[in-house]
Amino acid sequence: MRGALPTWQCDPVTGAWSIVAPLRAARPEEYGLGRPRPAGSVRRPPDCPFCEGHEARTPPELDVVRARSSEPNGVGWRFRAFRNRFPTFEPTRNGATTKSDRGTGPRASSARLPVPPAGARAVGHHEVIVETPRHDRPIGVRPVREIAALLEFYQRRLVAAESRFPRGSALLFRNQGPRSGGSLAHPHAQLVAAPFVFPTLAAELARARPGLRAGRRRTCALEADVRLAERRRSVVVRRGGITAYVPGAGTGGFSVRLVPSTHAPSFTEATSSELRDLAAVVRAVLPSLERSDPTGSTNFWIHSLPAGTPANRAFHWHAEAVSRAPDPDGFELSSRVAVRTLEPRAIADRLRGGFAR
Ligand SMILES: [Zn+2]
Ligand SMILES: [Zn+2]
Ligand SMILES: [Zn+2]
Repeated sequence: MRGALPTWQCDPVTGAWSIVAPLRAARPEEYGLGRPRPAGSVRRPPDCPFCEGHEARTPPELDVVRARSSEPNGVGWRFRAFRNRFPTFEPTRNGATTKSDRGTGPRASSARLPVPPAGARAVGHHEVIVETPRHDRPIGVRPVREIAALLEFYQRRLVAAESRFPRGSALLFRNQGPRSGGSLAHPHAQLVAAPFVFPTLAAELARARPGLRAGRRRTCALEADVRLAERRRSVVVRRGGITAYVPGAGTGGFSVRLVPSTHAPSFTEATSSELRDLAAVVRAVLPSLERSDPTGSTNFWIHSLPAGTPANRAFHWHAEAVSRAPDPDGFELSSRVAVRTLEPRAIADRLRGGFAR
């Protein structure tokens, strides 16, 4: 039974390792984990600070898309961004940092990027982007053009965040569902920026080398990985200029990488037609991932070339959507090798099967 043999998978983009071990799916489960739940509607709690009409419960708007006739910090908006009231980073007034904030610690050997010295103040920017005035409006029920407009707002916020820390990096991410790490159900994203290049981006930058050969032409590591996904049939969906595929190595949850076919280092360079295609792919993939998870929990993020490393044009921007893995066991924690029970192709099949009809 060859299909049951464990196999190594390595991700050339992130450097992550994992093992696909199908037999582990047959483990007895004594803790009684739940079954995948059907997508349900979300109740609107009366005190949600992100709902329209509750603008006074959030910090003032940093940026907003709203009806021309409406008042700032009042009703009548489509998307709004404000500082996170519970930030991970200590805010600065204008993004200015001192030398000690930036640190002069040792350099990460692979990417030669500065590493924050232990004890340095974690200065940075942390904002919330509320994606809809309505509490019960998940991505899966919104029209593609509305999601595309939201992605354009993401772009604008990313440009603003990067300009605060021109030598650092910014990350835009979403948490949805009780196991996502997020605390509020109202659809929203968050954006952080800091005067350092975050380790995931640093690792991917170090691996983003131009000039891999692909037949006659040269390609980047990410494009080569998309070709590999096509050969192993782990492409989930393709819409125009955006392909979504299951990467080779991943955690025990499902993960999908969303990649533009045109090479561009920064998400802020994505064209409006790419944003429309990305919106269509997100609208298909996120609800399917939610349905694959017993608690409907997902995370989503965008990896874009850090502003502080403009020279590395080999980096290819992308987004990633994941459902939550079961808690890692001792092997996974001690080895940083993730173990999962399904091949990338089988995960792609399941996610296609979960698309809303
Ligand atoms: Zn709400
Ligand atoms: Zn590329
Ligand atoms: Zn990435």
